Amino acid sequence: MGVEQEKSLTIYENLRIVKEKIEHAARKAGRAPASVKLIAVTKTVPADIIKHAVAAGVTALGENKAQEMLFKQPLLPPDLEWHFIGRLQSNKVKSVIGKVSLIHSLDSWKLALTINDFALKTGRQVIVLVQVNISGETSKQGLPPAQAADFIKEVITLKGIKIRGLMTIAPETADPEEVRPVFRDLRLLAGRLKNIFPGVDLEYLSMGMSSDFVVAVEEGSNMLRLGTAIFGPRK
Ligand SMILES: *Cc1c(COP(=O)(O)O)cnc(C)c1O
Repeated sequence: MGVEQEKSLTIYENLRIVKEKIEHAARKAGRAPASVKLIAVTKTVPADIIKHAVAAGVTALGENKAQEMLFKQPLLPPDLEWHFIGRLQSNKVKSVIGKVSLIHSLDSWKLALTINDFALKTGRQVIVLVQVNISGETSKQGLPPAQAADFIKEVITLKGIKIRGLMTIAPETADPEEVRPVFRDLRLLAGRLKNIFPGVDLEYLSMGMSSDFVVAVEEGSNMLRLGTAIFGPRK
């Protein structure tokens, strides 16, 4: 078997296993498996390899660097959905807006204003998730949970931005049970925010990565960002 064919089979098989686990976790939580959106995180993965995942049915890709995403987009089919999941620098906003379906990482007023300015100038409404740092790790992006309500209250005054949910990144751990409270807390926070802002559609909970996605789905995730589980370890 050729190297390319082998890679394609591995990705296909990885996806099959991932989908099986999602299905099982969703059913366990009494939810429809189809309500969980799978985003294949393609950072550091070359377009040739990403194509195997697309051939296997992946329709949404996640990148965390603007330049890398913009380089890969023309090399892949035009009908894919792109998600921006990393720290977005203000000077990259112009190049990213219009190229992504969802920005998962809104966590500062400065970034909100930059996005809003450009959105209004170009007649768009940019769809975002508010990133919350549930675990409180200093290395993580995201707003402290206690600031989320005040932040949303301000952002909903910006006509160029539409908030559709929350995102968090759990601490790295060997035992996913350890981070269950992180996912639960994001879900509970979303519930409180829905009560405070009934007009804001906080539909999406983007939480769960390769090491912890089963627990994340059990705790209510409906957007998974999976890299390693699909493509193998990054170099
Ligand atoms: C890299 C990355 C992921 C995917 O990580 P894996 O552990 O490889 O699944 C998910 N979310 C964000 C924000 C990332 O940067």
